[in-house]
Amino acid sequence: MKILIDEGKCVGAGTCVLAAADVFDQRDEDGIVVLLDADPPHTSLPQVRDAAARCPALAIEVVE
Ligand code: SF4
Repeated sequence: MKILIDEGKCVGAGTCVLAAADVFDQRDEDGIVVLLDADPPHTSLPQVRDAAARCPALAIEVVE
């Protein structure tokens, strides 16, 4: 699994962090997403998929 994020699209909603806190974080200064793990274990796939599906800005792409 590979995760791609588009910081330019991110609106700092934080939904991804709530869905998968091991993989996503947000910058303190502006709330923009920070990718903690671009290639997480497959056990994280459901949470990562959920994060991508719920991101209001469609800023997360999951490549399996
Ligand atoms: S859910 Fe989407 S818009 Fe919100 S912080 Fe994560 S990547 Fe950014």
